[in-house]
Amino acid sequence: MSLLFAFFTGLAIGSFLNVLIVRIPKGENIAFPPSHCPKCDNALKWWHNIPLLSWLILQGKCAYCKSPISRIYPIVELLTGLIFALLALKLGLGAEWFVTALVFALLMALSVIDFEYYAVPDSLNFTALGLALLMPLFILGWDWGFGDMKDLSFYMDMLFTRFKDGAIMGVSFFALGYIVKRLIKKDALGEADIIIAATMGAMLGFPLVLMAIYVSALLAIVPAVTARNHMVPFVPFLALGTWIVYIFSDQFMKWWGMLYA
Ligand SMILES: [Zn+2]
Repeated sequence: MSLLFAFFTGLAIGSFLNVLIVRIPKGENIAFPPSHCPKCDNALKWWHNIPLLSWLILQGKCAYCKSPISRIYPIVELLTGLIFALLALKLGLGAEWFVTALVFALLMALSVIDFEYYAVPDSLNFTALGLALLMPLFILGWDWGFGDMKDLSFYMDMLFTRFKDGAIMGVSFFALGYIVKRLIKKDALGEADIIIAATMGAMLGFPLVLMAIYVSALLAIVPAVTARNHMVPFVPFLALGTWIVYIFSDQFMKWWGMLYA
């Protein structure tokens, strides 16, 4: 039951993310005008906006002019639904589940935008970082409102750890980018990568974040080698590596323990 609730919550959030993905890179207002077809400009009715279902019923075409609607919409909705559902399995419903799912949904949206536009909007990127850093405060608020409140130092320690690990990762990526730029005279790591690295540090902490960087690099090798001519966006691989290590954190910690026990 709670799994279905989590999935439908994710579908709704994914539907809103679609609006951000389409409008933010074009510099449009995210609340106005209401959703409309980019081809014929007809305003959409509410039943054209039901996540996943509308796209299937309309068979991926505009209800008015029949021009094709990008497959990205239902994919983003479905992925967001899955992110919310899988995290509900791991964390149970609550503030930690919701904010964590929001962070990963934002990372997924950033990945889609990076694939589409080879650029990532700072507004979404900083939102993900802010949520990742301030997560302990949301958890504190939830525990305070719904019982099971722990000692205040518990939340403050968590907050400090997140800021520390986020800062270490951000500074490391900044330094790495600077050195590589000096060596090969080309931008290797963009500002977006530095912000994502800080988000990764805050979400995973050490040593998991190091394993996530390693997994991301492994995932990026094949596309980086095969696509020699054009740039390979790195953000989607960082996001995917973070997701994999977060979901399977117990397994990764076990491997780490085997190596360094
Ligand atoms: Zn249309």
